[in-house]
Amino acid sequence: MKVSEHLQRANGRPLISFEVLPPLKGKSFQSIADVLDPLMEFKPPFINVTYHRAETHFKKMSDGRFEEIAVRKRPGTVGICAAIMNRYKVDAVPHLICGGFTVEETEDALIDLDFLGVENILCLRGDAMKGQANFYPEKGGHPHAIDLLKQAVNMNRGIYLEESQDAWRTNFCLGVAGYPEKHGESPNAEVDFKYLKAKADAGADFIMTQMFFDNQKYFDFVKNCRAAGINIPIIPGLKPLTTYRQLMTLPKAFSIDLPADLVNAVEKVKHNEEAIMQAGIEWCTAQSKELIANGAPIIHYYTMSSVKAVKQIASQVF
Ligand code: FAD
Repeated sequence: MKVSEHLQRANGRPLISFEVLPPLKGKSFQSIADVLDPLMEFKPPFINVTYHRAETHFKKMSDGRFEEIAVRKRPGTVGICAAIMNRYKVDAVPHLICGGFTVEETEDALIDLDFLGVENILCLRGDAMKGQANFYPEKGGHPHAIDLLKQAVNMNRGIYLEESQDAWRTNFCLGVAGYPEKHGESPNAEVDFKYLKAKADAGADFIMTQMFFDNQKYFDFVKNCRAAGINIPIIPGLKPLTTYRQLMTLPKAFSIDLPADLVNAVEKVKHNEEAIMQAGIEWCTAQSKELIANGAPIIHYYTMSSVKAVKQIASQVF
């Protein structure tokens, strides 16, 4: 079922969903099951699975030369989606990115997903390749998420890259990313917002937000979207802070601010790992409750390595 249908059918009852990362190459599906099994009691209608492009490394060859090679450390997004649908009987939302794909490869990926019965896709640009300052699209690939979105919208209309008569119309529900605190590369919030509006106008069915720790940023973002005529669901994404180090890494990696009250709460217990995690859990629990009280249709949790914390939060909120 489509994400949009799940939200409609909930009829105001708040839903919960989770995002998982494919495991590092060499691990089995069990590592995904270890994350999801404990969370399935909360009955998520769908699970997101991230996509990770190749990274380049220099490998020492037998003759002593170093050669640049591309390695995908976390392959398996499409297979994991199929396995999740099969094991848990819930919908999967694969993330599809522009980076590393030609438009033909994107089309093939969309065809595979359609054959597998995947009905939802989060259309993203992807970040810059590790070690590169800027994002560069693949030669013959899409430069922005909107271009990938438009390709998928076209396939929903039976329009493929090569013209063909009576082509099958896919029926994807298409999500895009939104940034309550602005995307890190954007010169200002207005410019970023203009491009978000363009994605909505191009046929996005829902927006999934970057993580945020200050609910007011989400409320203002939703208000601005509605004022601009963006009327699709806006799914808030939350991640509990679980380590002291994240006070430094999260703002840098995701271009977000951490509220002073949260930082102070963590600083107070900085030498106690368990207490830091509890401070993060309390914050995220309060955030979740306030979002629901103010009409958020669903809370989407970035589980990353915080399954224990997410489970505690979900137990207190749902
Ligand atoms: P875009 O919408 O293309 O925006 C990127 C930048 O370009 C923004 O600054 C925007 O303002 C600007 N822009 C947009 N359209 C145009 C245009 N037409 N012309 C000029 N400028 C434009 N990354 C992964 O690699 N894998 C994942 O699985 C993944 N999952 C994510 C899930 C969520 C919910 C979120 C919020 C992000 C995720 N990301 C993931 C990270 C994401 O790929 C990065 O944030 C990336 O830098 C931007 O992606 P986007 O889809 O927002 O790109």
